Amino acid sequence: MIDTLSMNTAQVKELFASLGEPAFRATQYVGWQLKGVPLSEMTNLPKSLRERLATVVTDTLPRVERKLVSSIDGTVKYLFRLYDAEVIESVFMRYKHGNTLCISCEVGCPMGCRFCASTLGGKVRDLLPSEMLGQIIAAERDSGERISNVVMMGIGEPLDNFDNVCTFLRLVGDPEGLNIGYRHISLSTCGVVPRIYDLAKEAFPITLSISLHASDDEARSSIMPVNRKWNIQALLDACVFYYKTTGRRISFEYTLIAGKNDTEADARALGRLLKDAFRDTGAPLHVNLIRVNEVVETGMRQGTVEGANRFADILCHMGLSATVRRRLGSDVNAACGQLRRSEIRERSQAKEKVEHE
Ligand code: SAH
Repeated sequence: MIDTLSMNTAQVKELFASLGEPAFRATQYVGWQLKGVPLSEMTNLPKSLRERLATVVTDTLPRVERKLVSSIDGTVKYLFRLYDAEVIESVFMRYKHGNTLCISCEVGCPMGCRFCASTLGGKVRDLLPSEMLGQIIAAERDSGERISNVVMMGIGEPLDNFDNVCTFLRLVGDPEGLNIGYRHISLSTCGVVPRIYDLAKEAFPITLSISLHASDDEARSSIMPVNRKWNIQALLDACVFYYKTTGRRISFEYTLIAGKNDTEADARALGRLLKDAFRDTGAPLHVNLIRVNEVVETGMRQGTVEGANRFADILCHMGLSATVRRRLGSDVNAACGQLRRSEIRERSQAKEKVEHE
């Protein structure tokens, strides 16, 4: 079976040609597909063609399994069911500059960051390009609104699913596809260093976000196992290469965890680290500060807003730009992986119940 949503229009045309169908049929099909319309409702395609296609193509579009709407700011958290019944999350946020969707790129995550809910059960599988694209399509169809910005900050590590993520990036920016501008796309990584070099060579003009979260190796390794493989120096060298190759600014994510990495000394150490690494490059340095979302299983505690603001002020005084991320959707469990966790818990409780009956 063929996953046509992971293909570009030219490839779908080739497929249609191999079925003896003209190119305009492929264009019609692709148009429906990008709107999330199922084969059975592609009304301008002949019924015989639709029946034939049903035996050839797979439908990998995520389906809305649950949806939580924030009563505070309208943020929507989607729990999507995939073709194999696995679930992932996406978050729809409304900003002044447009609607943003935070998407997942893997089912679960192998990286093991200690504060993160997504990684608690490990990684189950990669997402297909169509399943990444499909989150955007399904959210647009459900909301009736256009999504203009995409952040790859949901469940999973994008650079651990490199080939599918690159195919997704080519498709999402394709003028014949969803046509979302690369400058409106951010990819966040915990620091899979070799793939940062590979990504630089692909030269998508996206924004790279680095989940740094600490400024010395001992502290970073204690919360992010990936740091034992590629340490801070190796990571920042890759970042400098990325900046020099692409000219795209990099933003650094720093999750503030009480008593772990959130003192004024930590702020000064972070500022020095980034300024040193990027000296002579002229790169603008931006740090996104996030007060950790408390996840029961991780035991990490959140500090105060005042503490976070003080941390940001110190970075600003040192000549960096820093913002404390506003928490959208705080009433809908918006920290990555938490909704998927609760779904898995409910499913296993339901299973136990059935087994006990
Ligand atoms: N794997 C990628 C993208 C997914 S996580 C990465 O690590 O960057 C997106 C961001 O949310 C990362 O910066 C991650 O470190 C952060 N994050 C994960 N769990 C969090 C939590 N409980 N509180 C605050 N930020 C968290």
